[in-house]
Amino acid sequence: MLLNKFTYHSPKEISEAIELLDDKPNSKILAGGTILIANLKLFKQRNMPTPEHIISLRKIPELKGINIDTDSITIGAMTTINELQQNTHVKKNLSIIKTCCENLATTPIRNMATIGGNLTCRYTWTELSSVMVALDAQFIFRSESGIKTISAENYFFDQAKQEGILTHIKLKLNADRISAFKRIGKRAIVDKPMLSISVSAIAQNKKINDSRIVINNGYSFAIRDKKAENFLNGKNLNISLVKDILQHIDTEIFDSRSDDYKKHMSRMALTDTIEQLVQQCK
Ligand SMILES: Cc1cc2nc3c(=O)[nH]c(=O)nc-3n(C[C@H](O)[C@H](O)[C@H](O)COP(=O)(O)OP(=O)(O)OC[C@H]3O[C@@H](n4cnc5c(N)ncnc54)[C@H](O)[C@@H]3O)c2cc1C
Repeated sequence: MLLNKFTYHSPKEISEAIELLDDKPNSKILAGGTILIANLKLFKQRNMPTPEHIISLRKIPELKGINIDTDSITIGAMTTINELQQNTHVKKNLSIIKTCCENLATTPIRNMATIGGNLTCRYTWTELSSVMVALDAQFIFRSESGIKTISAENYFFDQAKQEGILTHIKLKLNADRISAFKRIGKRAIVDKPMLSISVSAIAQNKKINDSRIVINNGYSFAIRDKKAENFLNGKNLNISLVKDILQHIDTEIFDSRSDDYKKHMSRMALTDTIEQLVQQCK
């Protein structure tokens, strides 16, 4: 057998899943399964203990789909990466999500992996984290103790520790918000990224404000560079910023545990994203 024995639960409502999670301490949540199933195989091979209960979220309709209203988009945690990439509202209003999703892993993985899994699997390198912080997303968790909303920024600052089930992700819409994303792969073949950077800002009459520069360096969770943001805020968005920004970065974030190649690539990724913003403002 490839896996150790476990009991598979397939609740049809969030409340049922929460009850199970509370009731079965040695359990794991199953979303798309792309990481969990691989880990279960690995644990078995290495003779490590595996969870006794798997709680699948696949049959809970409330967790699926993307809804738009006048000023926000709500994404169910079980929405797949491919569904996100294809969604017309996302393409039109939050194109940075589409850009991130279209380069993420491979088609078979994008068809299975979910946004909820990407944000909660607690691997520091998964890419939607920096995008969510850049867009000031709010994460909605449900557990036995109730419903809790936490900003993406605080969630990752707190090391992506969670209580219960991530049910939805809420994003505010603002027609003046521009954004850009850059991923640096490790190798030419499909692999987890070496680093990714997401940038967003409010642009009015070419002046930018409320900028968010978020670095995911692969070692620690996505974090904002507030030093670089302070430099950008209030400036006119022109091409000189692409070079100037490098004099104003927080090197503790950019250079932590980096070799020279990574230091260079992280700066290149940042200047690329700023250049993308300038292009959007033309
Ligand atoms: C070969 C390969 C390449 C990849 N490349 C990339 C890449 O380039 N970029 C990138 O960003 N990612 C990449 N990934 C990661 C991929 O996006 C993840 O596999 C995915 O994010 C996990 O999502 P899932 O839905 O399959 O989660 P699962 O494997 O089902 O779940 C993993 C864990 O996440 C937690 N979880 C999942 N959903 C919830 C929820 N709603 N509430 C609470 N906890 C939850 C649970 O602890 C669960 O055990 C890659 C994965 C693989 C296998």
